[in-house]
Amino acid sequence: MPTCQYCDKQWSYATTLKKLFRNKMVCPYCHNMNYITTKARWRLSVISMPVMFVGLPLGIFDIPLKWSIPIAATMLIISFCLYPNFMELSKEEEPLF
Ligand SMILES: [Zn+2]
Repeated sequence: MPTCQYCDKQWSYATTLKKLFRNKMVCPYCHNMNYITTKARWRLSVISMPVMFVGLPLGIFDIPLKWSIPIAATMLIISFCLYPNFMELSKEEEPLF
């Protein structure tokens, strides 16, 4: 779970999940701005990669669409649930590369 770089308090799972799609995140305790680190951003993209590629192998094995959509949706939900565990914060905005 991410820790605020200003007050050192650990954010709850729910708080992190709510702020998931923002690059800038305000700490619920000290209200300072935190940013996702480049390392964490890369980790998050690696987690979501299996979801993006799940359609291809399912198509090759001739799995019907009514099965591949729930499988992809389940993987998407799992990856979102894992996100807060891989989140890391920094005081300054870091470049993507
Ligand atoms: Zn804080």
